[in-house]
Amino acid sequence: MVEKVYITYNQVHKLCQASADRILNDFQPNLIIAIGGGGYVPARILRSFIKRPGSANIPIQAIGLSLYEDLGKNGPVEEPGTKVTRTQWLDLSSLEMSNLVGKNILIVDEVDDTRTTLEYAVKELEKDVEAARQKLGRGEEKTRFSIFVLHNKDKEKKGHLPPEMMDEDRYLAARTVSDVWICYPWEATDIDEHDRLAISQPSF
Ligand code: 5GP
Repeated sequence: MVEKVYITYNQVHKLCQASADRILNDFQPNLIIAIGGGGYVPARILRSFIKRPGSANIPIQAIGLSLYEDLGKNGPVEEPGTKVTRTQWLDLSSLEMSNLVGKNILIVDEVDDTRTTLEYAVKELEKDVEAARQKLGRGEEKTRFSIFVLHNKDKEKKGHLPPEMMDEDRYLAARTVSDVWICYPWEATDIDEHDRLAISQPSF
């Protein structure tokens, strides 16, 4: 059985707080893209910590991605969770996409497990931004993506991120953890029980 680890809202809050300086100084995001549903709460908490006095709140956009099992005629043909499907995407019809060209964009999710979702998100967002850049004739303006996750599982990854993103340290995990199953508070149906389980476990 995979070990379960319970994380409280308080812990999520503090993980965002502890990462805020680094994000503000190194990534300087103009826009946050939260991967739903696990990225929503961390993205919103983080926004408060990286707000500069006197400047506007950093906008948060949401995309929805889920991993699914590809079923063939004779049963599963792919390992579970190897394909990503979009359940929600940026509205390309609006001016939003032009606003992404030349910006620093922070992608936020709760956990980097096999990295399949993050690989998909970065690749697809890069494609969309490149298409927008060409359409708008915006020369060599570069859009820089960075990533923040609460937890990165220390395991072999199926997905890969652009080497320059790793080389330039544009990937930040608040915690690197072993290959456990993390129970986040927003998934709990009984938050008091969830918090009790979190308190009773060895510190994580
Ligand atoms: P990936 O394998 O693509 O890195 O992770 C895909 C998604 O699986 C994550 O965004 C998250 O929704 C879910 N996931 C993976 N590991 C965990 C975990 O330990 N706990 C929870 N709650 N979700 C997880």
